[in-house]
Amino acid sequence: MTQTAPAPTFTVTNPATGEEVGTFPVHTADDVAERFVEARAAQAWWAALSYGERKRRVNRWIAAIAQRSDEICDLGFAETGRPRGDVQFELIAGLEDLRWAAAHAKRVLKERRVAPGMALFNFGARVSYPPLGVVGVIAPWNVPIYTVLCGLAYALAAGNAAIVKPSEYAPASSVLVMEAFYDANPDAPRGLVTWVTGFAETGSALCTAGLDKIAFTGSVPTGRKVMAACAENLTPVLLELGGKDVTIVAEDADVEKAANAVVWGGLFNGGQACVGIERVYVVRPVRDAFLARVKEIASSVTVGLDDDAAYGPMIVPAQIDVVRRHVTSALEAGATALVGGVESIRPPFVDPVVLVDVPEDNAAVQEETFGPVVVINTVEDVEEALHKANATRFGLGSSVFSARRGREIARRLKAGGTTINSVLTFVGMPSVPFGGIGDSGFGRFHGDDGLREFAAPKATTSKRFQLGPDMQSFPRRPEDFDQVRKMVKFRYAKRRGA
Ligand code: NAD
Repeated sequence: MTQTAPAPTFTVTNPATGEEVGTFPVHTADDVAERFVEARAAQAWWAALSYGERKRRVNRWIAAIAQRSDEICDLGFAETGRPRGDVQFELIAGLEDLRWAAAHAKRVLKERRVAPGMALFNFGARVSYPPLGVVGVIAPWNVPIYTVLCGLAYALAAGNAAIVKPSEYAPASSVLVMEAFYDANPDAPRGLVTWVTGFAETGSALCTAGLDKIAFTGSVPTGRKVMAACAENLTPVLLELGGKDVTIVAEDADVEKAANAVVWGGLFNGGQACVGIERVYVVRPVRDAFLARVKEIASSVTVGLDDDAAYGPMIVPAQIDVVRRHVTSALEAGATALVGGVESIRPPFVDPVVLVDVPEDNAAVQEETFGPVVVINTVEDVEEALHKANATRFGLGSSVFSARRGREIARRLKAGGTTINSVLTFVGMPSVPFGGIGDSGFGRFHGDDGLREFAAPKATTSKRFQLGPDMQSFPRRPEDFDQVRKMVKFRYAKRRGA
């Protein structure tokens, strides 16, 4: 009798206490291929449902998640050490995405008639948005539930099935959330919302399996690998990558509001947020008042595992090395620590660090830190702030504080989103597109664009009648060309709007 070796597994632990949270299989390329077959069949079932039927099922899922939200938040806390309130926060954002995408899919994606244009006026024209098929969703550890739900919300609403690969550091809470889909919809085939767990190899297998799209959320270096792997089968990719988000504080800013928002935006989730505020440009006239309030507020922030802690541990040990490198290099380059310093790094925790006057070419300004570190540099005016804010390879989120010039400054910020007189709000608003430019990636979750991201726009044209020469048949007669020549002169020779 031959014995098959047990499938390899990995154990997820709390980053602060080392307590075991759960054990998960390391799925292989064969497992991915198996899931793909199941997902393909399930997608046909899902796509045959009406938008209304899909919406009802998603809404039932939302209710099932909400009923288990305490359990989900406990698990989220156990696997990442993040305050339960923060887990709740990302859960709400994810549920809002599910609800919005299901509610708006029909409006955005239903088949519609369009004008055929003058050259083919004798045709009817329609545009439809059929689903892509089976979508892979690869997620990071920092907001593990939100990033999984974000991918699923738009993929499912557009009629796709999905295979999810959660992060190896935090798969437990998102797997529980996905299981709730079947509690709410026992009639749904198991391949519709399915998942694989494991490390880079499992994610890579998903990229080369021939799926119809990969929606990847994670770091820039992995994003490059994902895109390269997807190129093998010309699998389209959506990349939601890192950021170095900036805030501009103008002369007419409400300094109190700006200081509060910057401290929260830079430190929530321990700075482990793609849209966390890592750079601030404050104009000189309000600099001192702004720095004084930032210092006061940031110094009162408590870190730990207690219920009243503002944030918890660094979830991945390697990220602590990045934080140390950035803080050290900034201080060595002449920066001043307004709050904290190298001594703030006491693994697995990092207390708030606020650095001022950091040289623009320093790693702390140029690279994603992904920790509770905020750099504040002083500029003479908004022009200089904009110039420096835009001198980055990233372009995810941004914000501006100004009583009168908010919209003007927002328009000139190079980023996927900008919040005026607050921070990060575009993330929690499913009606507006969310995504980046430059090294922050491309493609969008959220909004009408997020739904179209998971559909394959299709043109259908139909001949209604024939009038005049038929230029799509042979032979062509000289009088037909004559008519076309006249039409060209009539339509194009007159300079309209010149
Ligand atoms: P990561 O790139 O290390 O991992 C992300 C996911 O990719 C994980 O599930 C991982 O197992 C998988 N993976 C690793 N190697 C792979 C490969 N070769 N092929 C396929 N999959 C692979 O990112 P992380 O450290 O988990 O997350 C932090 C990063 O995510 C930060 O840079 C952060 O800014 C970014 N992020 C971006 C957004 C956004 O919406 N733009 C949101 C959250 C996080």
